[in-house]
Amino acid sequence: MKINGLKPDGALWENIKCCCIKGDVEHSYPLSECKHCKYNECWLSVPQDDFKVKEPEMKDDKPTGNIITRTVKEITLVRGSHEDVIGWNF
Ligand SMILES: [Zn+2]
Repeated sequence: MKINGLKPDGALWENIKCCCIKGDVEHSYPLSECKHCKYNECWLSVPQDDFKVKEPEMKDDKPTGNIITRTVKEITLVRGSHEDVIGWNF
């Protein structure tokens, strides 16, 4: 899997400290508003390996009615204001 938009020197959100209180569920993500853990969770949801998608087969910009399987080998990250991963597309 090729991932475009990586931050080799670290993204801004990585500098936001975790404010969870260990062992205290009420004061830990997701019950607490911990940006670090939230952004980390988003980051961990980014696929690291190639994956397959089913999509309509297109011919001359029109769907043929067939469903084909395509292997996705490259994605591009979409970053938020703290360079957090808010999505990715392929
Ligand atoms: Zn946290």
